[in-house]
Amino acid sequence: RRIILSEKPESLIPRPPVVTILGHVDHGKTTLLDAIRNTNVAEGEAGGITQHIGAYQVEHKGRLITFLDTPGHAAFTAMRARGAQGADIVILVVAANDGVMPQTREAIAHARAARVPIVVALNKIDRPDANPDFVKRQLAELDLVPDEWGGNTLVVPVSAKQRIGLEDLMEAILLTAEGIEIRANPKGKVIGTVVEAQVDKSRGPIATLLVQNGTLEVGDVIVAGTAYGKLRAMFDFRGRKIRAAGPSTPVQVMGLSEVPEVGELFTRYDSEREARAVVEQRKQEAAAKAARAPKA
Ligand code: GDP
Repeated sequence: RRIILSEKPESLIPRPPVVTILGHVDHGKTTLLDAIRNTNVAEGEAGGITQHIGAYQVEHKGRLITFLDTPGHAAFTAMRARGAQGADIVILVVAANDGVMPQTREAIAHARAARVPIVVALNKIDRPDANPDFVKRQLAELDLVPDEWGGNTLVVPVSAKQRIGLEDLMEAILLTAEGIEIRANPKGKVIGTVVEAQVDKSRGPIATLLVQNGTLEVGDVIVAGTAYGKLRAMFDFRGRKIRAAGPSTPVQVMGLSEVPEVGELFTRYDSEREARAVVEQRKQEAAAKAARAPKA
């Protein structure tokens, strides 16, 4: 299922890890994503208000980490359903006052099914009713044994609200990333995943893509599902115009024929003609399949 299998091993070089945040509702996923973004995104941006494009990158000790800014299981599951390995590492947010809840278990199941390592962010440790040891026991029962207890799950106490422990969380992510194969060929076939997409009244379909292999450039022709087009413009997560985006880079693109589905894979084609033909064939196949399906 790894999408870069066709690349020669010697052509692969390290790329930033891609991280997604899962966990039970209200345990602090959104707050944590915002805190990380605000603390670690490179300085020097006007106003510090960055637009949300579904993914961002932070730098920790000179190394980049890509965060998928779409909390919740839907995007993760959508990517998996279409065969894309969306994330390299899952941050499982568990509120230290609330402990393991149904969606915590669900998130663990998703991560395990995708064979993606889990780092636990034990959140809300600032709360007077926080009970970290109780939660660690709960995690251990689910085979996420904290490393301080001899297991191999990194459990990092944090407060997203008070921005405590975020550096430790970045450390834990980079440490986990070292243990797994996180490579791509920047000169190889251009492949990636649609992270977010919508239609803009004046600019047409806009999609946030995560490049996973190769380097996407302005002027490239891509196909994502039944959406295709020549990319007219590309922006980084800060909204700045860019001309190229390599592996693990989130990029917002304009120029697609329609709004692609989240989780859809995209690939580059040599010409618009070729891309259109691929899309036409996909549409015909979908229509034929719909015609064969029994009426509900
Ligand atoms: P999500 O549903 O997992 O995205 O959770 P949110 O980020 O929306 O947070 C749910 C609630 O918990 C909000 O009221 C947050 O302010 C609060 N919250 C999040 N992180 C912390 C934390 O570290 N400490 C405390 N005390 N509250 C937090």
